Amino acid sequence: MNVVNNLDFNNKGINNDLTGEATIQILKNTRKLVYRLNSNHCSSLGLHPVIYFYSKDGRHRTVSLLAVVDFVIELDKRKKIDDFIQVREHFEECLIKYDYLIQQIYLKYKSVHKSYKDVSKIFQKIVTNLQTEKIIGNVINEIISSNDFQYLTIRTINKEIPSSTQDFNTNKKNEIYIKDALKNAPKCKICNGLIHRNSISIDHIQRKEDGGLASVDNGQITHPYCNTGYKN
Ligand SMILES: [Zn+2]
Repeated sequence: MNVVNNLDFNNKGINNDLTGEATIQILKNTRKLVYRLNSNHCSSLGLHPVIYFYSKDGRHRTVSLLAVVDFVIELDKRKKIDDFIQVREHFEECLIKYDYLIQQIYLKYKSVHKSYKDVSKIFQKIVTNLQTEKIIGNVINEIISSNDFQYLTIRTINKEIPSSTQDFNTNKKNEIYIKDALKNAPKCKICNGLIHRNSISIDHIQRKEDGGLASVDNGQITHPYCNTGYKN
């Protein structure tokens, strides 16, 4: 709510709302954004929580949640939602492969409230760079060589440190579950991004305007926004 409504995190400077109108407006703004993130509303991007809001080993990351909220607000403001849809598949590959960069940003500031803007900025840069460069390694290299992000480092060895025990701990179990679940997760037939069960739309492959029928063969699963906003 604070990020969506541009309010101080300690709620400083907020006066008593005598009529309740300001409160209702804050709730409405927030609901609109929540619809956008993941819902069955036609504006929904259907962002898959596992990659957008959780770390690789299944821990909820508040900094990611705030960053994604800020990122989506910025995309909307700059009319770049469709740019995001165009590169969404590769954007999600970046999120999975470079998940540890979010941790590095957090470690620099040691505060969720101070670090989420940089995470959002990286997300925006990834979208911009992916418009002209398809190799995600090059996209990330370009970003970390810019002045703003020189404090980030790419891990050259992505191999796991060999385990000294034989039993999987909870984090490892989560990571294995996520790894296998993502491999088999359904994808949007329009943008090829991951689909979450709470945010699905059934699209006519041949459009109704062009005589497309409601047969099973003429249906495909998509994100709500890909089907209604982007496609049209
Ligand atoms: Zn899609």
